Amino acid sequence: MTQMTQISHARPRRHLRVLLLLLLSATSAWAQAVPFEYRLSFPAPEHRWMQVEARFGGLPPGTAEIRMSRTSPGRYALHEFAKNVFEVTITDGAGRAIEPARPSLHQWDVSGHDGTVVVTYKVFGDRTDGTYLSVDAAHAHMNMPATVMFVRGQLDRPSRITFVQPAGRPWRAATQLFPTSDPLVFTAPNIHYLMDSPTEFSPFTLRTFMVDDQTIRIALHHDGTDADADAYARDVEKIVRESAKIFGEMPRFDAGTYTFLADYLPWVDGDGMEHRNSTVVSRRGALRNPAQQQAMLGTVSHEFFHAWNTERLRSRGIEPFDYEEADVSDDLWFGEGFTNYYDGLILERAGLMTTEALIGDFAGIINTVQFSPGRRIRSAVEMSRLAPFVDAAASIDRTAWPNLFISYYTYGSAIAMGLDLSLRDRTDGKLTLDDYMRALWRKFGRSSNKTPGFAPSAYTIRDLQDTLAEVSGDAKFAEEYFKRYVEGRDLVDYAKLMARAGLLVRKRQAGKAWMGDVRLQTGAGGARVTALVPFESPLYKAGVAQDDYVVSLDGADIVREGQIEEILSRHKPGDRVAIRFVRRGGEKAETTVVLEEDPRIEIVPVENAGGTLSADQRRFREAWLRAQ
Ligand SMILES: [Zn+2]
Repeated sequence: MTQMTQISHARPRRHLRVLLLLLLSATSAWAQAVPFEYRLSFPAPEHRWMQVEARFGGLPPGTAEIRMSRTSPGRYALHEFAKNVFEVTITDGAGRAIEPARPSLHQWDVSGHDGTVVVTYKVFGDRTDGTYLSVDAAHAHMNMPATVMFVRGQLDRPSRITFVQPAGRPWRAATQLFPTSDPLVFTAPNIHYLMDSPTEFSPFTLRTFMVDDQTIRIALHHDGTDADADAYARDVEKIVRESAKIFGEMPRFDAGTYTFLADYLPWVDGDGMEHRNSTVVSRRGALRNPAQQQAMLGTVSHEFFHAWNTERLRSRGIEPFDYEEADVSDDLWFGEGFTNYYDGLILERAGLMTTEALIGDFAGIINTVQFSPGRRIRSAVEMSRLAPFVDAAASIDRTAWPNLFISYYTYGSAIAMGLDLSLRDRTDGKLTLDDYMRALWRKFGRSSNKTPGFAPSAYTIRDLQDTLAEVSGDAKFAEEYFKRYVEGRDLVDYAKLMARAGLLVRKRQAGKAWMGDVRLQTGAGGARVTALVPFESPLYKAGVAQDDYVVSLDGADIVREGQIEEILSRHKPGDRVAIRFVRRGGEKAETTVVLEEDPRIEIVPVENAGGTLSADQRRFREAWLRAQ
């Protein structure tokens, strides 16, 4: 994206409105144009490939640049979907074969056509999640960027999509694509919308419920019972209703329908991917497994919150989405991080997660942002920009991410939690983060329902700050919050804010000696350091690095698991302990490690720590954590 690293302090509203008008008039002109036709068939699903026939009519004269996407909405790394495409044949509208030029691995240049280009190809896919394509005897699970080609410069064209049932398999399609009178034929108003419309084609179990005049569908592909499906649907409904309370209303779903595409099977991969009117939620395992239910519902909560935050209330950095280059956003700390804060809060408010578990998650978030070395280097905004390197990005070289990076999900959660508690604290509970989300929704989210596939009122970071100034009535507070905690690397005083809710923040290993958050595996030759040693931890300062072997500590040879913990338990923070180790490459080293106190915290209700919960604290806590 060209706007990716701009933090514009001017608001080019006029420009935006002109763009919107152009867009609307263009859309109505094209609505009369012949739609692009996609025919998706599955001649041998067991072999994990499908057949695509794409008929691109009404093309302007000149070379048609046909492409496979390199990106997928909601994902930030490059995925190079062209790698799975094979046996490509191209003709014009009269069936005359045309040999394309190949300027890149992602592109087929077609010259000399008659205004229509027909591309036929096979595409392999064997990963069931929110990003890729999966075809097998049980289903076709299609993420569209991994499946369909598009024509460069023709993203505003409507399309018509036909799913062809494999022989002997009466599969149905679950999708946010617009239905027609034929249950296997759908339409999309533009290519952005098509790309945003994953489709599950299978004998799925369907559950539906209404919220006001809109339908929520759950297309569930699983190996459990109807009772499992019913229980899941009840929990999903609780989440949907609790989420809507935060924004004060549901989004207006295009076509009045929102669809959960849920795949819980032993061979699928875990994911959650948000879209305008649907989501893919997947997980290896089974609904009936109680140990997995919390995580499954957490993903449901997270993805449904995205129907507001990200899909409609959307950062200008990712709008419109680029299918050719990595999409970079300054605002994933908000789009993902604030969503991450709310997904747990919603579960807890809906009675699907214990308060204790939620508080445990909050402690984990504080520990990560407070003590991960990455915060010395980069702010939450800068972490957001790294998404193309870390969001499902494959790298075969080792990276230093544990020392250089804090997930914008976690960092953003910490900012959201800090802001929620700060607003409650300074107004004695009159203003909350929910008020802020609602104000943002009204300004930037709600209006974007007009054009399916686009969010014409996308926000900038300045808009987020200005809205906080409006909601809080205090421009100085908003400026400082953004300057210090979002664009800067400071943290709010969580202990002080948590105390308002009668929650005690204290060291979880007070008085115990500690060498750092280091991973060790003991075997022949000592304890091997199996992960990056955190910057400035006691072991780091002693010169011990990944792949080194700790041979002895405090004079004792290290020969078994648990031995290092035993030695540490006999010491206090500040003790100097002899350490011998062998560096990768064979160099022997002998030095002392100065033990410290584990700085990590836990959060404990004051009444569980021998204190008394005051009436004021109780009120504060309940307003925050009770069902709204
Ligand atoms: Zn998310």
